[in-house]
Amino acid sequence: MKASVGGYARAKDLRHAIELLSSADGMARVLAGGQSLVPAMNMRLSTGDLLVDISRLSELRGVTDDGDTICIGSLTRHVDVGRDPLINQHAPLLAKAVEVIAHAAIRNRGTIGGAIAHADPAAEFPACILALGAVLHVEGPDGTRTITAEDFFHGLFETDLEPEEILTAISVPKAEQGELQVLQEVTRRSGDYALAGVCVVRRAGGHRVTMISVGDQPALAKAAMAKLDAGDIDGAVDALRAEIDPPSDTNASASYRRHIAGVLLRRAMAEISGDEA
Ligand SMILES: Cc1cc2nc3c(=O)[nH]c(=O)nc-3n(C[C@H](O)[C@H](O)[C@H](O)COP(=O)(O)OP(=O)(O)OC[C@H]3O[C@@H](n4cnc5c(N)ncnc54)[C@H](O)[C@@H]3O)c2cc1C
Repeated sequence: MKASVGGYARAKDLRHAIELLSSADGMARVLAGGQSLVPAMNMRLSTGDLLVDISRLSELRGVTDDGDTICIGSLTRHVDVGRDPLINQHAPLLAKAVEVIAHAAIRNRGTIGGAIAHADPAAEFPACILALGAVLHVEGPDGTRTITAEDFFHGLFETDLEPEEILTAISVPKAEQGELQVLQEVTRRSGDYALAGVCVVRRAGGHRVTMISVGDQPALAKAAMAKLDAGDIDGAVDALRAEIDPPSDTNASASYRRHIAGVLLRRAMAEISGDEA
């Protein structure tokens, strides 16, 4: 099936992109890497929108050191996230995620901002930035604002972004001395979306746990986090299985996803123990 598009405009700069979005009465879509939007258009899940192409806005690309945080431009491609020295040193969870996202062709075009704005509960980056406690930077016709990752995700493919706003960057706290960041997931084949996944960040202040593919949005697994903080891994596994509400679909049943979520949390904690040794 062919995509149905309501027009195409290449933005000259960020302001121009926001003007284009604002002029379309909610009938415009940002086009970044196109790796989720174009398939959705081909399946007619998105039709008739003006495509505002931001892919050449170099000011939205790259990683900078901001002191206690690193700032990742929203147009930074998956492949560049994976090999960036600042990310590998200060937020290795994101680099680990890149190793399991899709295939090389998709990682060469897909952007971290696109993956976060798309808010697919099966995607790795949304769960990672929530586990890391990132802050998102957004710009729209009324200026700029920041949103915590906790407040950004509203539901299945739904975020706090207004139709005329653009996600410009993501600030990620630098890992503390001794902090450990782990991602574990299960896929049918290499490069597939995960049937289930878990991110665990262990800091001096406690554990942060988020899940992939077990609900309609990325969320902190707070009951499991409390049990891990108390040193109770068995309790954390039980708590995690109780607090998630996984879907059943053609890839896996809810009960399988619930079971595997607990297995993945155990694997993540075993990896953390191994990294400590
Ligand atoms: C076959 C296949 C397998 C895949 N497997 C995986 C996988 O295993 N794991 C995974 O995480 N992902 C996977 N993906 C998705 C891939 O990672 C996408 O690249 C990513 O989700 C979207 O990034 P993009 O830059 O291509 O965004 P686009 O497709 O251009 O946009 C996606 C959505 O976000 C909006 N958007 C994009 N950028 C911004 C912005 N800066 N501000 C506001 N809104 C914006 C768009 O309007 C659109 O609604 C897969 C994709 C394909 C096609």
